[in-house]
Amino acid sequence: MPDTLLVAERPAEDQVAQYDAIVIGAGISGMFMLYRLRELGLITRVFEAGTDIGGTWYWNRYPGARFDSESWTYGYSFSEELLQEWDWKEHFSPQPDTLDYLNLVADKFDLRRDMQFGSTVQAAHWDDAAGQWTVTLESGEQARARFLFTAVGILSAHTLPAIPGRESFRGPAYHPARWPHDPVDFTGKRVGIIGTGATAIQAIPEIAKQAKHLTVFQRRPNWAAPLHNSRIGKEEMTAITTRDDEIYARCRDTPSWFIHKADPRKTLDVAPEEREAFWEKLYAEPGFGIWMGNFRDILLDEKANAAITEFIAGKIRQRVNDPKIADKLIPKDHGFGTRRVPLESGYFEAYNRDNVLLVDLNETPIERITPDGIETSDKEYEFDILVYATGFDGVTGAFDRIDIRGPGGVRLRDVWADGPRTYLGWMPEGFPNLLMVLGPHTARGNIPRAVEHGVECLSGLLEFMQAHNYTRVETRPERVAEWTETVIKASEPLLSSKVDSWQTGVNRNVEGRSVRRVLGYNGNGVHYRRKCEEIANGGYREFAFR
Ligand code: NAP
Repeated sequence: MPDTLLVAERPAEDQVAQYDAIVIGAGISGMFMLYRLRELGLITRVFEAGTDIGGTWYWNRYPGARFDSESWTYGYSFSEELLQEWDWKEHFSPQPDTLDYLNLVADKFDLRRDMQFGSTVQAAHWDDAAGQWTVTLESGEQARARFLFTAVGILSAHTLPAIPGRESFRGPAYHPARWPHDPVDFTGKRVGIIGTGATAIQAIPEIAKQAKHLTVFQRRPNWAAPLHNSRIGKEEMTAITTRDDEIYARCRDTPSWFIHKADPRKTLDVAPEEREAFWEKLYAEPGFGIWMGNFRDILLDEKANAAITEFIAGKIRQRVNDPKIADKLIPKDHGFGTRRVPLESGYFEAYNRDNVLLVDLNETPIERITPDGIETSDKEYEFDILVYATGFDGVTGAFDRIDIRGPGGVRLRDVWADGPRTYLGWMPEGFPNLLMVLGPHTARGNIPRAVEHGVECLSGLLEFMQAHNYTRVETRPERVAEWTETVIKASEPLLSSKVDSWQTGVNRNVEGRSVRRVLGYNGNGVHYRRKCEEIANGGYREFAFR
């Protein structure tokens, strides 16, 4: 590799390890970033808090954890050999199989040799004179590199409920994102679960099958639709593999990089019976079709949204035996699809079981967690095990947990206090050589597709720097202002931008996270891809190099 990307030799007495690039995180993003950095000839170190690779799929081992992307759209597409080698077992892969897949990738490309596990990054400070980043781990160990890549994921900073008495509970209490490596045995146990987001919606039916009794504490219900998972036979997988090119091309060509594409018709232009038949068909099909393959205006137009919302509410009423419980499970504060739609397998039917109780926290709020369980305004519920399915400080949370300081000691956390400022989501404003895989303000959707795109973009930028002997890249303020405006504008027409969720940056368990922020590029992913290509083809003039 050209010498220019390598930092100057350090004196022998300097014990701090020196790399060309440091990557934070060994999940799907960090693994692929490392692979590409190696190809570019950069000596790279990956620091990972967990004891092994996998990120989301390493941490989230809770019962029921699985994709709601079609498995065969989820894997890496960069290696034909890898595509041929791996067979998905289910259309929506469960967590253990996904982790097996990622282990295969790590082994095949010998990724672990450049990774350091059990290494939580605490701080990353830019040294302007040396033109490099100094990274400090929780252990106090330090390392330096010209380039710092964040591959920290958008849902990795898990949050526990801010409820008094949490520490006093005597039994085991788990957050799904810190689930034990040995399966939790719920047999004969009284279990309480707080939260009814995508995680809880996957876990509840599974825990209910095992536990003696399960009590669900619900603050706001979520809309959910059936996943319709099934196994993939050998022949079917062979047939899928022959279509890989077509499948990945399709993903590149849809707004959210899934296989699903909206129907070009507007909801209310379609006759009610035809509309109903279309929705019945989507509801009976696997995956996100009901959300992303629906009429094109369901997430934009209040009346269209009200119509699909009523349809889905009807489905909940059909599936839940007790009309009072069904009513509690139907969200009243937001329409279908305006928060991330969890896909479920028997979630609503779980409430028909004798051993499952739904507690509506709007009627009887939680007052405290006690040594024996949970006390609401009404009574104390006793439990052997508690599950806090209370979500994440989404997108920026993982950045906030690291003390990232740029030139002059400016803290990223402060710069982003009112919302992220980036160019294309590739780099934050004012932080040289800090490159983000799946950073705020990128297009997301089907995560591995966004990851591969992001890594390719950043690799392209580095290749350009190598070719031009540049060692430092920064954003330009006017371009950051322009992109931030584009991102905000793209969100404005969406009904989802008026709803509190992790996607709009709201988390009531985190101080200062009660105001909505725009955290992603919510426009069409195809447009985002085109924009990134234009920047690359134009010679990255929108960035400043030295
Ligand atoms: P979430 O959607 O943010 O849900 C958290 C839940 O906990 C909400 O129901 C929330 O209620 C409740 N909660 C939080 N604090 C509480 C408190 N103090 N008291 C009572 N209730 C409280 O988090 P998540 O379920 O972990 O899902 C986050 C995202 O992860 C999903 O949207 C999805 O993108 C991703 N995910 C993906 C998959 C998959 O691919 N299959 C699976 C799981 C998760 P409020 O709504 O009232 O705040």
